[in-house]
Amino acid sequence: MPDFSRYLIDRTLIMLSNREPYEHRFVEGVAGDRAIEVRQPPGGVVSALDPTMQATHGVWVAWGSGSADQRSADAEGRLRVPPQTSAYTLRRVFLEPADVDGFYLGFANSSLWPLCHLLVQHFEYRDEYWERYQSVNAKFANVVVDEVRRAEKKPIVWIQDYHFGLAAAMIRDAGEPLFVHQFWHIPFPPADILRLLPVGVDEALLRGLLGNDLIEFHTERYALNFLGCVAEFIPDAEIDSETFVVRYEGREIEVGVFPISIDVERYERLAAAPVNTALAERLRVRYAKNYCRLGVGVDRVDYTKGIPERLRALRVLWEQHPEMRERFTFLLVATPSRSEISAYRDLEEEMVRGVLEINAQFRTRTWTPIVLIHENVSAELLAGVYRAADLCLVSSLQDGMNLVAKEFVACQVEERGVLVLSRFTGAAEEIDGAVLINPFNLEGFVEGIRRAVNMSDGERKVRMHRMRTQLRARTIFDWLAAILLRTEEIIAERARKTGAA
Ligand code: UDP
Repeated sequence: MPDFSRYLIDRTLIMLSNREPYEHRFVEGVAGDRAIEVRQPPGGVVSALDPTMQATHGVWVAWGSGSADQRSADAEGRLRVPPQTSAYTLRRVFLEPADVDGFYLGFANSSLWPLCHLLVQHFEYRDEYWERYQSVNAKFANVVVDEVRRAEKKPIVWIQDYHFGLAAAMIRDAGEPLFVHQFWHIPFPPADILRLLPVGVDEALLRGLLGNDLIEFHTERYALNFLGCVAEFIPDAEIDSETFVVRYEGREIEVGVFPISIDVERYERLAAAPVNTALAERLRVRYAKNYCRLGVGVDRVDYTKGIPERLRALRVLWEQHPEMRERFTFLLVATPSRSEISAYRDLEEEMVRGVLEINAQFRTRTWTPIVLIHENVSAELLAGVYRAADLCLVSSLQDGMNLVAKEFVACQVEERGVLVLSRFTGAAEEIDGAVLINPFNLEGFVEGIRRAVNMSDGERKVRMHRMRTQLRARTIFDWLAAILLRTEEIIAERARKTGAA
């Protein structure tokens, strides 16, 4: 990992994200008493940003979602983290159940999430959602402004994701001199899709985002969609399509492309660990005996991931190509997600039913076609699963980046696996060496799986080696360094123009 303390030397970084880097929970003690446990929620982004915060000693503002979070912080929701070293401040914001319903489950995950993933059949809008989204954004923005005012050095605010589409403008309206930027981790929709929001809501969201000095996306496609939406809905903004700069309210807002990645070395190390050498061996003895290939899929159960489409393709594969029976076993790691939302519960049911039906149809005395692991699996264990596999199926209907694809590549220490990758992932625009598929095209998808199963050892190695070389050159730390560097450059360019720092 690079030394991030060389960035932000004369700055205080104030991070804003929905998920917090450390969560305190009440747990049952051995004697039936209540103890408090602290844990770092899983997720690549938090685990990359946390060391940066530790190195640069900023403030992280986030939703205090843990059952013992309030108990573990002071009256303002502040505490020092990590527990052992107290390197930076975590400022927790507490939400009412109605806030969680309207802001998080409602506007963020039932309105914006499907819209940005172009899956309009799941789009649900209610005024109440929007009202809560506004009030919760305002609540977080006020806390950020409070931290800006307390900052010892010049503040830089970095907002994460689609939960806070309005926060940048709200923070700017407080009038403090600062630099605000935001990473939008999911796709950004074209104007025709954004228009499904009620008139005025679409515009308010864009004006909120234009409160930033820099807006970051994974791919050029999403950046262009954003600029297209600004062109359509914000008549007073002027767009320079060469430089991706928007001129608005007398300011310049830059739109940048920064594809996220993973901690490649960590996954390589995990996959190569003796415990995973043993796990991969056990999985192969069990599922990939003789000529049988082992395929894996790893997803949150989300309608963006194309899980029913993948099951349909597998069914057709085994139906129309009987020689593929006992030739290919599919291990599906499917982690339950957002089950408070009915579309997610329906999907879980559909998935479990689909797996049972396929297994009933094709199972033999010695072979089960699909092995479903319907729980959350740790990164440590996943590394062994990825390593064991001969192919990985990523079938997202739309996906900002898809980190599973990159994790699979990193863990393929024997360079044997084939990545079958949906062309509708950000990863497909970056990775060269996968078998690309379109999950909406059933026959093509089936063909892609057959191709991966039958691919020669030589071709597998060449492709995987190429992907691993590319991935090593673009880790999550390169992503982070590129963003920090660009913010420093913009600040310096402005200082030169105005003569002020
Ligand atoms: N993941 C995990 N355990 C599981 C399933 C998934 O830790 O049982 C992780 C996976 O390793 C990856 C992340 O969840 O890091 C999923 O990220 P991705 O970009 O693929 O999709 P998202 O869930 O963010 O839409």
